[in-house]
Formats: sequence, C-alpha cells, structure tokens
Amino acid sequence: MEIIFLGTSSGVPTKDRNVSAVALKESSGKKWYLIDCGEGTQHQLLHCQLSMKNLNGIFITHVHGDHCYGLPGLLATIGMNGRTEPLKVFAPQGIKQWIEATRELTQWYLPYELEFISTETVNNYELSQFSISTTKLSHPVASYAYSFTQRGLELKLDTQKLIQNNIPSGPIWGQLRKEKQVTFEGEILQQKDFIKDDIKPQKIVIAGDNDDPSLLKEQCLNAQVLIHESTYDKSLATKAKKVGHSYAELVASFAQQVNIKNLVLTHFSARFQSNEPSNDSGHDQKNSINILLDEAKAVFSNQIYLAKDFQRYKLEKSGELILIEGK
Ligand SMILES: [Zn+2]
Ligand SMILES: [Zn+2]
Repeated sequence: MEIIFLGTSSGVPTKDRNVSAVALKESSGKKWYLIDCGEGTQHQLLHCQLSMKNLNGIFITHVHGDHCYGLPGLLATIGMNGRTEPLKVFAPQGIKQWIEATRELTQWYLPYELEFISTETVNNYELSQFSISTTKLSHPVASYAYSFTQRGLELKLDTQKLIQNNIPSGPIWGQLRKEKQVTFEGEILQQKDFIKDDIKPQKIVIAGDNDDPSLLKEQCLNAQVLIHESTYDKSLATKAKKVGHSYAELVASFAQQVNIKNLVLTHFSARFQSNEPSNDSGHDQKNSINILLDEAKAVFSNQIYLAKDFQRYKLEKSGELILIEGK
C-alpha cells in the first residue's frame, strides 16, 4: 500500500504545508482513501496522481476545522465530476450534522449518496482490501485513530510439509489454500497446519490529534506503520498536554516501546521551519523542524520520517516503509 501526505501542518496552513490530510492507496488496483480533509485538500489533490473517481471512502478523525473544513468543497467537486456511486464517510456524529446543515442551508445538490458511518460505533468494518478498526484518543474533543489492516491475503502453503505428509500436489492443495478444513482420503486436514505463518497482513495506524500515544498500544502491536501527530518538541511538553497534543519524544518513546518498524510524524506547529538537513554547526535556525527529528531519533531506533506535503511512501511486503516520491 501507499501513503501520500496532502497536508502536514497543524491548525493553520503555511507556505509549504497545508492542514491535515493523508491519502492511503490499496496495494493493488486504484482505490484509495482519504484520512482527514483540512481546508484546501481538494487543491492539494490537483497536484497528485489520485483520481477522485477512485476515492473509495473518507475518514475524519475529529471535528476540529484543520481536519475537516475541506470536506464540503471536496464533496461538491466530486459531485460536479459526475459521481453517482455512493461514498462512505466515516466520521464522528458532529460531522454528519454539519454536512447535512450545510447542504440544506446552501441548497447543495449531490448526484450521489453520502453514506455516513459513525466512528463512535464502528469496529472491524470490512471495506474492499481493508479491515478497519478505531481507537479513541485523548484530545479536547473526541478524536480517533483508524487502523487499516490488509484482508483477503493470499495464503502460502508449506509445500515441503505437505509432501512429507504424503499429500500430493493437485486440487487438494488449492482447496487447502481456500478452506479452513479439508477432507482428504478420509482424513480431516486443518488449513492452519499447512500454511506458512511468516506472512503477516500489512497494517497501518493513522491517528488523529492525541496527547496520549499509549492509548494505541494494542493497535500498534501487529502494525508496521504508525502515523502520529507531533505538534511540538519536548520544550513545549507542558503546553502540549494543556492543549491535547503530542511532542516528538513522547510519540517516539511510545513507538520504541511497542517496537513498531516505521514511525511517521506529522501535524507540525507552524513555528517549525522547513525540512532542511541539519548542518555540521547544528541547528542555527531556531525552530528548525529537525529539532523534532533529532529528539525522536534519540529515543527511537527504527525507521522514522517527518512527513512533508506530497511525499509518497510505499509499504513493502517486508514491512519496510520507503519514501518513493518527494523529499
Ligand atoms: Zn489538528
Ligand atoms: Zn484537534
């Protein structure tokens, strides 16, 4: 699967960073999903290879404007592009009320159905190639993380073991790949005894605003990627807690604790300046964003990235997350 960052600033946009939005693309085919939709997200999409007609669902983490004010505009544009197929929007209840009020007050016609699914109650929802679950986070308003786990994974048979057990190649192998239990020459064979267990489904956790990463402990245990806000650095830890946000060291030490392979920090305060590589003389630029990177690296030993608008990442089968476009 692929992840494309469309907005990585918190609260307000900057010249280089728009407000929150992330696209998640399925590993095969063209379907993709939008997680959060800050104001201007539809403009950001104009610079990407993502087609609105392949948008298969929208997920909003919480009701704060920097995560959803782009929604009416995007939904209207999708309508003007001629969509007739229903569109699923996973969002806290307030979003549904807001969009419905906007539709009524602005006499807004949509040629397709908006199917709202309430984040408060949804769990293990199956949608195309993903199974989706949610985690409630800690923020001044109800905020959620969405976890996307690959489903329908093709199982690989342990052919050596099959041969050792005198189960010859033929239709029976195909059956074992599909069915949990198969009868062969009067004997019941269990699928689990003959599949290679080194193939793990890919899983990505995308969190909304949150001041307590430990709430994601369970979700992260079998995930390869965590995308989490790091609005501040640790010198602003007290402020972060007060306003319900995280700082780099807090997120990174949690990521180390659950030993997740890849951590991507995003949702940076506008005070942090662009991603220039740090030079030998250190950070002569006050509030360089590299302060966040250094702070996180000091406590996290796996792969870490600071997200930037229009960066495209690919999650490999090996669990490695690779930056394939953007700097
Ligand atoms: Zn925010
Ligand atoms: Zn927020």
